[in-house]
Amino acid sequence: MSFTNELLNTVLRHAGQEVSRKEFLSLAGRGLAVSVAAGTLASCNTSPDNAASSKAAVPTTGTPASEVDASTAYTSPEGAKVASSEAVSPPAKVPAATDKPIVLEEWKSKVDPQSGPTPTPLPPDERVGYALVGLGHLTLEELLPAFGECKKSKPVALVSGSPEKLKKVAAQYGIKPESCYSYENYEQLKNNPEVKAIYIVLPNSMHAEYVIRGAKTGKHILCEKPMANSVRECELMIEACKKAQVKLMIAYRIQYEPYNRLVRDMVRENKFGKPKYIQAQNSQSSANPDHWRHKKALAGGGALPDIGLYCLNTARFILGTEPTEVFGYMHSTPGNPLFKEVEEMMSWQMRFPDGVVVDSITHYDTHDSRFYRVSAEKGWMHLNNGYAYTGQQLQTSHAEGPAKMQNQIVIPAKNQFAAEMDHFSECILENKPPHTPGEEGLQDQRIIEAIYQSAREGRPVKLPAVMGTDVFRGPEPASA
Ligand code: NAD
Repeated sequence: MSFTNELLNTVLRHAGQEVSRKEFLSLAGRGLAVSVAAGTLASCNTSPDNAASSKAAVPTTGTPASEVDASTAYTSPEGAKVASSEAVSPPAKVPAATDKPIVLEEWKSKVDPQSGPTPTPLPPDERVGYALVGLGHLTLEELLPAFGECKKSKPVALVSGSPEKLKKVAAQYGIKPESCYSYENYEQLKNNPEVKAIYIVLPNSMHAEYVIRGAKTGKHILCEKPMANSVRECELMIEACKKAQVKLMIAYRIQYEPYNRLVRDMVRENKFGKPKYIQAQNSQSSANPDHWRHKKALAGGGALPDIGLYCLNTARFILGTEPTEVFGYMHSTPGNPLFKEVEEMMSWQMRFPDGVVVDSITHYDTHDSRFYRVSAEKGWMHLNNGYAYTGQQLQTSHAEGPAKMQNQIVIPAKNQFAAEMDHFSECILENKPPHTPGEEGLQDQRIIEAIYQSAREGRPVKLPAVMGTDVFRGPEPASA
């Protein structure tokens, strides 16, 4: 019998029955026995007696069993006695202030991407408490989980028409039963001192009503996009929040997302020369004609205000300027119940100052596709999944001599929803205006109405000239 077979048989016998340590060591040699026994013990169902005798026989550190002090040793998963490591805290800078990061001892080479500063979450009782209004897809799938990544925000109240959802979600996220409200007693949020901000996550037609009623409670308001269904509603929402002296922010998550912010910085710095042309697409498919997104009165429109808005708002964000003219082309497949009331597709062009053209398309009946490409004088930047919740992929192209350099830029991802909510919390805590205030949503609504008008009338529609850059935006978010 070969050595290997003999050893194998011994090991198998060891697994099922008694075998002497001497017999085993004589066959395998001490070094081999260490690894074989360790692996065997981990995978075999040995008797306690066997395990104990093998542990004593094969200390994996090579320290003889007799030299391992039981008080400073632990038993490894393989059953060996191992001398404990000394537990120490390596040198670190630990500022007392909670908003200053702990600086840990470095160990990585500068050849690899450097990690960012360690997070600086506020203690829970210092965070801004949010009431979430509407427990649908966005709230349950994205916003509530995103609070786990927030540093300045926490959920403290819920508003819903469904008592079952309220009960279950409150239990899941540690929200007090007395902090759960119906749409009817929504105004009682006023008496909840834990609530500092209300986040409106309802169908589009309800944004205006719930922002205006919410402002009257004296709480600050974060409202989902699109801001509302008409310019007039947007104006009333801004007016109500001003009157109540509360802040109003529209939840344009893209403006807090690192890849989109990087593209904006490259465009604004003319990294590849002046931007000339942007091509943008945000399309997906839908299947339920009964959903509010397919009812004009609730949604305000179809693909354009729901997802096309990302092409529109992101182009304005990247360029910083405002369109002077739009031309839209709209289509809905006749007879398709999904598009009886709202458009299936909108394709539109926007003319920006200096001859920059933004060409966009949004569709409710194609496989999901969300990208944009900024073509500049000396290169392009292409953001695949640009408008998606995750998975952004940034490619750039430029020429160097005879070579066409195409690079993929990878930066640390961030939860956009957490970044957006934390920005609003920061505005509340430090009494600053939000980066994406009501005026930003109002400007999008003006452009949306002009695109619809153009599509209806089959001609370009001019927009009032707006001079300057970032005219409708507040100061830069500190932490984005
Ligand atoms: P949803 O249909 O999943 O949820 C809507 C919620 O509103 C539900 O809980 C529903 O019960 C409640 N509701 C109250 N009155 C209603 C009524 N009359 N009809 C239908 N629902 C009613 O919708 P959603 O996808 O969560 O969208 C909510 C808002 O968030 C919309 O304004 C949408 O545009 C916006 N949104 C934003 C993003 C983003 O990435 N920022 C993503 C999705 C949705």
